[in-house]
Amino acid sequence: MSHATPQLDILSLVIHGDVDDAHPALDGTALAPAIHTASTYSARTSGEFAAMANEPRHPRYYARYGNPTQARCERLIARLENAESALLCASGMGAMSTSLLSLVKAGDHIVAQTAHYMGTAQLLTDLLPGMGVEVTLVDQRDASAFCEAARPNTRLMVVETPSNPTLALTGLAAVARFARERGILTLADNTFASPINQRPRDFGIDLVLHSATKYLGGHSDLMAGVVCGDAGIIEKIWKRSIMLGTNVSPFTAFLLLRGLRTLPLRVARQNENALALARFLEEHPAIARVHYPELESHPQHALFKRQMRHGGGVLSVEFKGDAQTGYETAKRFAASLKLARHAVSLGGVETLVVHAASMWEASLSPENMQKAGISPALVRIAAGLENVDDLRADMTAALAAAG
Ligand SMILES: *Cc1c(COP(=O)(O)O)cnc(C)c1O
Repeated sequence: MSHATPQLDILSLVIHGDVDDAHPALDGTALAPAIHTASTYSARTSGEFAAMANEPRHPRYYARYGNPTQARCERLIARLENAESALLCASGMGAMSTSLLSLVKAGDHIVAQTAHYMGTAQLLTDLLPGMGVEVTLVDQRDASAFCEAARPNTRLMVVETPSNPTLALTGLAAVARFARERGILTLADNTFASPINQRPRDFGIDLVLHSATKYLGGHSDLMAGVVCGDAGIIEKIWKRSIMLGTNVSPFTAFLLLRGLRTLPLRVARQNENALALARFLEEHPAIARVHYPELESHPQHALFKRQMRHGGGVLSVEFKGDAQTGYETAKRFAASLKLARHAVSLGGVETLVVHAASMWEASLSPENMQKAGISPALVRIAAGLENVDDLRADMTAALAAAG
């Protein structure tokens, strides 16, 4: 991949960073990208066809292998994450499962966190151990725990920062430095931060993964995932993706590219709204704790300043009260909001809230809920782009109703 545009500011990069500098004419003169719906592409000669079939990641061979719409979108995301290459998948979980299944085999060992996105946690504690991969989970707030858990057969360290739902941080530079010394690969799920707030590769992390369903897409209208890194390793993951069939649809790649044009603008507003809500809720007498890394009260605020530009769009709050009363108040608060919508996911234009305990109580034991950091009184808030005064008014009314 050519890097004729690395000096561009992010505001310009999202507008121009998808053009192939080596072959600008291929993308044509149409300002909007074409949606290449073809499942297959013809060649003029059998020699040309053989070349297409044998060139890894050829964008005009067979659509499961890639297509020009997808390639444009991947070029831009790779540049946003300071990586040579990116691979789009059908969902964040598609990117995570394809990456993990490409990087480890039976007999290998992974060090990961106790707090991971639920689907990732299930891959690490269910699917992979069943296939003979050993996994050790450590407290992400202690970077030395990753080092202490390493073994001679450790191949991969997986981190996710900030993590869901308590916005705990992992020290990217410390984990990357240790892993590099031992030849262990590192993969960071950067979904919550987005490349606007944090670029893990700047701290030495090898692979950066996103659920593009969230901030990168940004409109709650698509599902996609992406993994970024050096070209050689992304090609290795791509080889697995064509076996597993985790490829993205060309329509989705188009929609994602459209969403990416406004990523810096959207995330800047989400950062502002989340910080304002965090400060407002921290002062409210019904709230015991606000989890948000940009608040001075966050226990890892010093680490936040070293590795993040802003705190991101997600915060969580814990209501006062014991397990029973805190639970009831949190549930009433979430149900009383009128503007903020009650839904999972994050990163869209609309503010979303979830009462984590009532969502998970059917599938998680109280012990596992506690391990995942889900207090009964916790509500997660993913800030959207609304006027913050309207959001504050909505929350004030819901706080009064939850009383
Ligand atoms: C949503 C999410 C995922 C999974 O992504 P999907 O697009 O839903 O498959 C992975 N990691 C994090 C941090 C997420 O928020």
